[in-house]
Amino acid sequence: MRRREPDYYRKFRCIGGACPDTCCKDWEIVLDEQTLEAYQQAPQGLRERLKAGIVDNEDGERCFRLGEDGRCAMLTQDGWCAVQREWGEEHLCGHCAAYPRFVEEYGCLTESALAISCPEAARLLLEAPGFALVEEEDGGADLPFEGVDGGMLSGLEHTRAMALEALTRGEGTVWKRLAQVLALAYDGQDALDFCAYDQLFQCAPLEPQGAEMGGREMALRVLERWMALEPLRPEWPALLQSRCAQLSGLDEGAYDALRAGFQEAYPQWEGQLTRVAGYLIFRHWLKAVNDDGLYGRAVLVGGACVALYHLMALEWQAQGTLSVEGAAALCSAFGREVEHMEDNFMALVEDGYHLERWPLYQCLMGL
Ligand code: SF4
Repeated sequence: MRRREPDYYRKFRCIGGACPDTCCKDWEIVLDEQTLEAYQQAPQGLRERLKAGIVDNEDGERCFRLGEDGRCAMLTQDGWCAVQREWGEEHLCGHCAAYPRFVEEYGCLTESALAISCPEAARLLLEAPGFALVEEEDGGADLPFEGVDGGMLSGLEHTRAMALEALTRGEGTVWKRLAQVLALAYDGQDALDFCAYDQLFQCAPLEPQGAEMGGREMALRVLERWMALEPLRPEWPALLQSRCAQLSGLDEGAYDALRAGFQEAYPQWEGQLTRVAGYLIFRHWLKAVNDDGLYGRAVLVGGACVALYHLMALEWQAQGTLSVEGAAALCSAFGREVEHMEDNFMALVEDGYHLERWPLYQCLMGL
């Protein structure tokens, strides 16, 4: 079986109490029988805390209790999990031990990555020298991957490799390279719609001919759309609302000055957005095997980069500075509110097909 992961994947270490956020908040962690049984053997004090900290959810599943502030009952004041601190990491439940690592299995292929909803994973991505993948053959047998055409998976892998190549090694601005990725996905969507998987090998990242991607109008459209999604934390729509107001309030000259000032003060923005786009393409492109939805995913990637660029620039303007940790916090909030919220994510993928509302491809290609 082939295994593939980003080259910085194994560098990840949870920074616990030094984390600017925590993943032990807002998410409902359902515990399996094996873990619940093992928790009966926890050291005395911890066992009592576990007993009080595990409750039934609406579906009758056992999960950690969340406080009114959304914090997990097992989270200690210093930002560590009491299970890990008092008993050892090996006793964390499967979900908590794995996060922010996630694994996608495609029969003959297993892919792993780090979810950027974790600010430390986002920081590693932003500070990586590029977005590169490593692959190995582990000698294990391929697992069955029923219901998926092998030709479709290979074609998607091929187009994704081309998309990553155009994005990370292509010439021109990140907006131009993202436009090429979008054009490739548009072509690929055609092949998927007609089950013409051979055609996936003929797709090419065309040169954009029309408007440049990344402008204010598109940013406002994406930010307003994100604002209308179901939030996990109330701070997210509040932030989006204030940034939309800040952006709308700028006249043309002030908007141009914002972009120029931000890009000069934070020159790493373009490399960082390229890596965020690489991560999103790596994580979501192949998922089209499940629902044929390739172009909508590419629109989501392009839209996310446009919106994150503006959020970074507006943060820089509001605070007078932007650090890599500040940029990572924005990526992390996007990951938490969009990537981890299945309904939100799929709503945005669906949006991508409304060409009148999201005329990205037509604008970029001058159609
Ligand atoms: S969000 Fe990441 S760094 Fe922070 S506590 Fe969770 S795993 Fe650790």
